[in-house]
Amino acid sequence: MIDLKNLTIEKVHESFKSGEFTCKELVEEYLKVIKEKNTELNAYLEIYDDVLNQADEAQKKFKDGTATILTGIPFAIKDNILFEGHKASAGSKILENHVAVYDSTVVKELKQQGAILIGRTNMDEFAMGSSTQTSAYGVSRNPYDTSRVPGGSSGGSAVAVAGDMALVSLGTETCGSVRQPASFCGLVGLKPTYGAVSRNGIIAMGNSLDQVSPFGKNVRDVEIIFNALSKYDPMDSTSISPKSPKPSLGENPLSWASGKSVYKIGVPWHLFEKGVDPEIMENFKKSIKKLEDSGCEIIDIKLPYSKYSLEAYYIIMPAEVSTNLSRFDGMRYGFSAEGKNLAEVYMKSRGKGFGKEARRRILLGTYVLSHGYYDAYYNKAIKVREKIKEEIVETFKNVDLIATPTTPTTAFKLGEKLDDPVAMYLCDIFAAPANLAGVPALALSSGKDKNGLPFSIQFMAPHFCENSLFEIGKKFELISPDVKSGSRPKGVGK
Ligand code: GLN
Repeated sequence: MIDLKNLTIEKVHESFKSGEFTCKELVEEYLKVIKEKNTELNAYLEIYDDVLNQADEAQKKFKDGTATILTGIPFAIKDNILFEGHKASAGSKILENHVAVYDSTVVKELKQQGAILIGRTNMDEFAMGSSTQTSAYGVSRNPYDTSRVPGGSSGGSAVAVAGDMALVSLGTETCGSVRQPASFCGLVGLKPTYGAVSRNGIIAMGNSLDQVSPFGKNVRDVEIIFNALSKYDPMDSTSISPKSPKPSLGENPLSWASGKSVYKIGVPWHLFEKGVDPEIMENFKKSIKKLEDSGCEIIDIKLPYSKYSLEAYYIIMPAEVSTNLSRFDGMRYGFSAEGKNLAEVYMKSRGKGFGKEARRRILLGTYVLSHGYYDAYYNKAIKVREKIKEEIVETFKNVDLIATPTTPTTAFKLGEKLDDPVAMYLCDIFAAPANLAGVPALALSSGKDKNGLPFSIQFMAPHFCENSLFEIGKKFELISPDVKSGSRPKGVGK
């Protein structure tokens, strides 16, 4: 028996090297747990049939000396990440039988390193949602309490890791879709700087916001994955070129990776005045106190424009969604309905193929981009986004990091908020500024509430300062023993 709960990438790597267990033995352990728990938790939509072959291939790399830190590491991947020859449905009926014809850049990289791709995970349809309840393939359940949501949209990828059905996983973020489920499932989630990780081969939701984002049980695992995947990719026009000006940590005068003794953390207290659960605030204040006691300087900051992040996001995102989803017309990809003429085929395919939330956003997006409303909505939202970005960049001249709670509540009940889209959208309130500004952000566990549900704290850093996030994250893990991976749920699914 391998102690899956306390495994980390580095521990696994050492065990592979010492021969304590093989790649296949580890994968077989995960497959056993999947068999036991997946029917109830619905983390995976599919377990790839070549998993054991992948394990054999990985083992060879250890023999021939080409193994890297990710060789043999079991990953779960979100259903919107293309893996050649395998289905990718983005949680939607319209892509039910869609088989990827090429590898996304991130999958190519993982394959090259010999990581093991166990399967594709459940998600909100086209990544639209905060609970994994808009999936066309049923809800996923939170391993801490199966009557609750795991968060979304990358809920399946979070459940896979929290339920010990994979060591680590990939999700995607457009606005909080990794940080929020990480928060609800007691995990670490990183939203990298926009442009740091290739979007090539990711089924797009909002191109100006989307970013592949890892989940792990601890900060170091997420750091290892980020370091492996963060590369310039000519296949993604928004990938950051090595030639473009990019502040390295050394050049950033505020970077405290260079061994500062006092780290300045900005806290926008004014943003928490309304709508934040009192228990969340209490936990957040405790976390801030711990940071202060451990030598950080806490500074009260004001982010007047960031207050409007959600409003800007819910105009910009649907605009991009309506454009991106126009290609799913029943002719080129996936589900196609019968119709008397072309227009009817389009209407029926889209009407039946897309779920309610996807249709709502297509309508909203089409409206805000339409003649006569474009300036009033879309253009205005773009201007607000610029202001938010400016204010965050400005703020980072005075502080090294910004801290907030990750979410305004802990995991809510299945079915809750489903009939109230605005209540659901409010889940993203603290996530949105980082996505709009393109800065990196890290969510990590900060203890548990009285029902044993995880709390989470979020740190944001300046563009390309992921290293500062990893440092503060590791520091926080040390001063906050609750964060340790061993404190995760036991015995789910029996
Ligand atoms: N909750 C966000 C939304 O519904 C999630 C978007 C995302 O990050 N994919 O838009």
